[in-house]
Amino acid sequence: MNNHVTVLEIDSNGLLHNLNYFKQKLQPTTKFLAVVKAFGYGSEAVEVAKIVQEKVDYFAVAYTDEGIALREAGIKTPILVLHPQIPNIPLLVQHGLEPNLYSFKIFDAFLKYADEAPLMNYPVHIKFNTGLNRLGFWHTDVPTIIAELKQSNNVKVQSIFSHLAASEDLSEQEFTVNQINNFAYTVKQMYEHLGYEPMIHILNTSGVVNYTKAQFDMVRVGVGLYGFGNSEQETAQLKNTHTLKSIISQIHIIQPGETVGYNRAFVASKETKSATIPIGHADGISRRLGKKNGFVFINNQPAPIIGNVCMDMIMVDVTKIDCKEGDEVIVFNHQQHIEYMAHKCETIPYEILTGLSQRIKRLVKR
Ligand SMILES: *Cc1c(COP(=O)(O)O)cnc(C)c1O
Repeated sequence: MNNHVTVLEIDSNGLLHNLNYFKQKLQPTTKFLAVVKAFGYGSEAVEVAKIVQEKVDYFAVAYTDEGIALREAGIKTPILVLHPQIPNIPLLVQHGLEPNLYSFKIFDAFLKYADEAPLMNYPVHIKFNTGLNRLGFWHTDVPTIIAELKQSNNVKVQSIFSHLAASEDLSEQEFTVNQINNFAYTVKQMYEHLGYEPMIHILNTSGVVNYTKAQFDMVRVGVGLYGFGNSEQETAQLKNTHTLKSIISQIHIIQPGETVGYNRAFVASKETKSATIPIGHADGISRRLGKKNGFVFINNQPAPIIGNVCMDMIMVDVTKIDCKEGDEVIVFNHQQHIEYMAHKCETIPYEILTGLSQRIKRLVKR
């Protein structure tokens, strides 16, 4: 027994189920990149990587530090760093991480570093912007990229990729198909002049679901691994991977007219039994879930959060629930509950998951 009562359980079987679910949608030869950025979408990146490493071809993280954490834990799989920064280049190379080169600024800086080191055929990835307008070269940059690459045998383009802006939104189908076609055209130009054919990839989770034909050589699945398909139908096929549990610290019986929590936000209209749970907004439970907007489960019954969410605690109404101090509290253990929380917070499950703070102990369930 560990000394933390608030724990986030990561379900390894759920992860593997979800991985297989997406793999089954793909050609057997299509490579699979598992996105484990942001601590594995709020879970535990190293543990997730260890669970799936035998079954994936690549990992991706956003930042160099995240990749270093995986390497230091002994992960040997190739790791694409999606958003490296120039000052990180030496560390990135030292840990055998593969940079996304998305602008001339970082492309030139990397080539310069690779020339001076010197590196030989160091794997790099070139990203093209096809409409997200976030990171990536323009199509018109192809000739300059090619010219620079031709002068260097310090790097080797491992892949060429892009990212869809609205793959989950079928009302944006025309835009998305356009992105895919423009990407394919850019790749064709790159292939013609490069003299070799790097892997190409554009699909994220919803891309795999909605535009399976554009799987090219590899897909990059993030949120799907963690149980969310960005549609009710898809999510129903996936298993929950994040279960957040706590316990009841204390129970108070309060009388009509008495209040609970800061700013006296809950006022009892009748005798009320309130339970205090050691998890709060500093753990990622949004203050928007107070005032009965959110609920937890205690002994299989929903208990609404009453009053304001505190930094380290919430109080829930357990008047009708048979429970005692020390009983288990399920903050969530199902995707629908996480989606409900997201809805109440005017956000998406991605933010609920990645917002779970590092203060919460992670525990892998095998
Ligand atoms: C985060 C990210 C992904 C994963 O997206 P999901 O919707 O979680 O599958 C894929 N590619 C890039 C470039 C990303 O930044």
